[in-house]
Amino acid sequence: MGDKNKLSIAVVGGGIGGLTLAIALKRHGIDCKIYEQTDELREVGAAIALSANAMRFYEQWGLGPAFDELAFEMSHLIHRDGKSGRIIGKHSIASDYRKRYGSRYIGIHRAELQKILFTEVGLENIYLNKCLSNIDDSGDCAVLHFKDGSSAEADLVIGADGARSTVRTLMLGYDDYIYAGYTAFRGIVPIEKLPKLPDPAAIQFWMGDGCHLLHYPIGGERSGDVNFFLVQRDPTPWPHRQWTAPATEGEQRKYFGDWHPAVVEMLSSVPVGDRWAMNYRMMLGRWSKGRITLMGDAAHAIVPHHGQGANQSIEDAVVLADCIADMGSSSLSDMQKRYEHLRHGRARKVVHASVTTGDMLHLPEGKNRDQRDARLASAKAMQHHLDWIHGFDASNFAEPDARQGGTWM
Ligand SMILES: Cc1cc2nc3c(=O)[nH]c(=O)nc-3n(C[C@H](O)[C@H](O)[C@H](O)COP(=O)(O)OP(=O)(O)OC[C@H]3O[C@@H](n4cnc5c(N)ncnc54)[C@H](O)[C@@H]3O)c2cc1C
Repeated sequence: MGDKNKLSIAVVGGGIGGLTLAIALKRHGIDCKIYEQTDELREVGAAIALSANAMRFYEQWGLGPAFDELAFEMSHLIHRDGKSGRIIGKHSIASDYRKRYGSRYIGIHRAELQKILFTEVGLENIYLNKCLSNIDDSGDCAVLHFKDGSSAEADLVIGADGARSTVRTLMLGYDDYIYAGYTAFRGIVPIEKLPKLPDPAAIQFWMGDGCHLLHYPIGGERSGDVNFFLVQRDPTPWPHRQWTAPATEGEQRKYFGDWHPAVVEMLSSVPVGDRWAMNYRMMLGRWSKGRITLMGDAAHAIVPHHGQGANQSIEDAVVLADCIADMGSSSLSDMQKRYEHLRHGRARKVVHASVTTGDMLHLPEGKNRDQRDARLASAKAMQHHLDWIHGFDASNFAEPDARQGGTWM
């Protein structure tokens, strides 16, 4: 069973992590089959920011030119006061960033990212319309059962099925998601609708008491258009069964009506369909059971305040592929333990830092906010912050666990 060349690998989920894992495995000469529930690989109406800790791998794998065409390399990281628009901190993330971290910080539409990834994987390895409903891991191999009545066998099942993971629920025996106390709206606005927006080529946080707006430009066909993500603290229990709920028009402006005109302009420029509940999952002691292993959001769904969910999923994919490729004659269980050992500390730290970042962005007036602003303005503090997140090289197993430095506050 320990021979990686004979191992049949089923990846549940053809999202960012699952596709990246398939590419990483392919580079080691290892095949896998991806089972994806949707009938088309797409995520409509949303974009994603990828930082050097993930982008470095895509560039190493020769995908740089595809990103040149479809992604937008952001110029600065800016934090502003949400109401006055005053710049609190402004730091270049273009050429110096590339030099320091060996790759770039980009905004890209998710559909374009999926396109780059599945083109590289090869459509023949992706099975669409395969919604996993159960896994039987009691026999000589794992049997995956899909909602259409079909089934498949595998020696190793990777749960890359995202924040609403069925694989995780099957592994635990219950669904353990937790509402994080935030709700959000997201949208993409054509740049010509934003004449008031300062620094349109930057990724920017506009901060206020209990709320923030994050936005950044995307590339490809909609080059320069702005993806926004509007978050507000909403601690009442989320009253819906679904993770999203239809919003009434204008609801997104409720807490932002007296914010800077560029913010109000952005929020008013496109209809906003749904309100999203921000949910996360507890870090588990183990991400594997029997022949099943979790990765990405299925292993550590995270609040998105650091923009690191997809980036962490990509890091997981690179490490998991390396562990599978290196397993030689060792057991599946040893391979799984090694993967978890290499990823647990890093993922835990980013998950916790994402929660702290939410608190940091939403501080009310006072001493803590003043201290935060001083740190955001400091080039040294920002560099320290980016070093441990964006400067991290997940493929460098030689460094000790402590290689990650400290967090924000
Ligand atoms: C509003 C918002 C903004 C974000 N912004 C950023 C950002 O800027 N940067 C960043 O790094 N992260 C960001 N994230 C987080 C990021 O989207 C996720 O962390 C990332 O997509 C996780 O990748 P994944 O491969 O684990 O899961 P996903 O990319 O979600 O992929 C899961 C796949 O599994 C499939 N699937 C699910 N269930 C089944 C099933 N039963 N059977 C078969 N297939 C199934 C799904 O259809 C999907 O294709 C954001 C998240 C949100 C909500």
